[in-house]
Amino acid sequence: MVTVNNRFNGIGMTSQRTRGRMVARLRRQGILDETVLAAMGEVPRHIFVDEALASRAYEDLSLPLGFGQTISSPYVVARMAELARAGSRLGRVLEIGTGCGYQAAVLSRIAREVYTLERIASLVAKARRNLRELRVGNVKLKHADGRNGLLEVAPFDAIILAAATLQVPETLLSQLAVGGRMVLPRGAEEQVLCVIDRTPQGYSEMVLDEVKFVPLIPGVG
Ligand code: SAH
Repeated sequence: MVTVNNRFNGIGMTSQRTRGRMVARLRRQGILDETVLAAMGEVPRHIFVDEALASRAYEDLSLPLGFGQTISSPYVVARMAELARAGSRLGRVLEIGTGCGYQAAVLSRIAREVYTLERIASLVAKARRNLRELRVGNVKLKHADGRNGLLEVAPFDAIILAAATLQVPETLLSQLAVGGRMVLPRGAEEQVLCVIDRTPQGYSEMVLDEVKFVPLIPGVG
């Protein structure tokens, strides 16, 4: 039998089998949404991290991606995706904080269209290369301050913040569709994962797990 290995398939600690073990661990950690689990099983996370870290890509760790930023752990990415989906297929999704593009790649498998904003130009370029390599066609990237959202495309079924903030920008809230949901880490030193649902009457917030994210920073870098 001939085994073909390339950077996608990976070998050893970056193989499909390792990814399968990560999915099994996510189930044990309480992720129940099969669509999210399937997406997590499909996206090769090792492509998104530095080669030196590739062997650790499927451990439940947040990893450095340069510029003082981090890629969230698989559990946190899956948890946010599950909360955003809330059991139904998503149309248009906005992600704030593209980083290396991993979470956007996962979201691309559970939503029809993904828009993602990043304030650091080099990370936009890096994420664009990664997503192109994986032939992800339904993610649009933009170098911008995510706090302003993307008015020309709004409203969104879900808005996901990958960086923490105390004050939720009003502009972003107003770009949620009625029936839509925002998932975000809220706080500064101490942070909690929150969901904010937009209802016909207004907004309702639910506080969930304790988390640790890099801060949402104003302006572009
Ligand atoms: N989802 C990412 C993880 C990103 S870490 C991934 O899968 O890799 C958080 C990111 O948010 C960082 O890249 C940081 O530069 C970015 N960020 C912080 N403040 C921002 C802002 N105001 N607008 C857009 N991006 C921002």
